[in-house]
Amino acid sequence: MIDRRAFVATSIAGVALPATAKLSATSRPASGGASGAYDPRLTIERTLLRRNVTEVARLAGGRPILAVVKNNAYGLGLDAVGPVLDAAPEVWGLAVVTTEEALALRAAGVRKPILLMALTDDAAAFELALADVRLAAFADDAPERLAVLAARLGRAVRVHAYFDTGMGRLGVPFRRAADWMARLAAQRGVAIEGAFMAFVEDDAVDPVQCDRFRALAEGARARGISLGRLHAASSHGLFFRTPALLDMVRPGLVLYGAYPAGARERGVAALTPAWRLTARVVRVTRLEPGDGVSYGYRFVAERPTWIATLPVGHADGYPRSAVRGCEVLIGDRVYPVIGAVSASHTIVSLGDEATAAVGDTAVLVGPDHPAIHPNTVAERAGVSVYDVLMHLSARLPRSLA
Ligand SMILES: *Cc1c(COP(=O)(O)O)cnc(C)c1O
Repeated sequence: MIDRRAFVATSIAGVALPATAKLSATSRPASGGASGAYDPRLTIERTLLRRNVTEVARLAGGRPILAVVKNNAYGLGLDAVGPVLDAAPEVWGLAVVTTEEALALRAAGVRKPILLMALTDDAAAFELALADVRLAAFADDAPERLAVLAARLGRAVRVHAYFDTGMGRLGVPFRRAADWMARLAAQRGVAIEGAFMAFVEDDAVDPVQCDRFRALAEGARARGISLGRLHAASSHGLFFRTPALLDMVRPGLVLYGAYPAGARERGVAALTPAWRLTARVVRVTRLEPGDGVSYGYRFVAERPTWIATLPVGHADGYPRSAVRGCEVLIGDRVYPVIGAVSASHTIVSLGDEATAAVGDTAVLVGPDHPAIHPNTVAERAGVSVYDVLMHLSARLPRSLA
């Protein structure tokens, strides 16, 4: 007898598949171009995205959400994700980090406020203001430049003042912020709609940052300056900085259904990964003892072993280090990744029987089984959960189900 357990040591066989695993037949393409049946793809689940928004609003105590959709909606696709978030009543607006993404959201039909959390040149600022994109003000000369922009535009420019309370990345350094704020507030045609900062996500530093931010807002109020809505908390803050949720929360990761490090274990939120990375099996074959697979031959069969090849790899965004213990769901079973993940291929062991066939759909990351949850994939591959989303290739065909 062949001891299958010794071989597929890390697989969990025979686990029932939740209802969410049924791939929707009503998916429609969310990005252009034809794709073949065997191409790897991403499916974005509208209802799961919506469910996460509701859950995030609950965590935020009902505060409005400024949904961060930077970096192509964390890899999931701006065109698919933007309109779904735009339609959610809990969402106040959307935030991005490039001019191109801000305008792409408008082109995709997003009507709510869009905040660009980046430096812009004057020409881009004009285009953005025309599209009613809110600008982040933080450059030393931002007050005067914004006033010029408003004059050119013939109407008020809405801005969010960005403060550096200790992150050391972007924003007006808090020590020099008081006079800058007064200058900004004094400009004609500049409407301060909000003010924000980013936490470094350190238990000792964050409270200090929060105090600095509150002091700035207090100082502004004392001088008769309104900073509008204050926002600071990202996904991490929703779990770990609840006294600092302020007027609005600004998460990204959690909306897509993944947890910041250490948050999943707390059991205080029920988020669901809102996408699937799938590929179809393109080859099933049997290795004889001594046969190996993939670059470096790090896997060599000790007994006759069935393997399946999936046409998806690290160039698509599946972690190169997935071989360190990740599993893939095919049908109702998970199978271990063996051999090095190459640019466009991943090989899994089926064990001593050919339990999968060419054409079967494999889910590499998704909501359907604990082993393929993005946080599990990240932990097993030894990468940040942000990488499991943000490294998804922009070339993957996407559909919205
Ligand atoms: C990316 C980003 C966020 C969202 O962070 P998550 O950890 O994904 O919730 C919030 N604010 C700023 C300034 C960001 O750059």
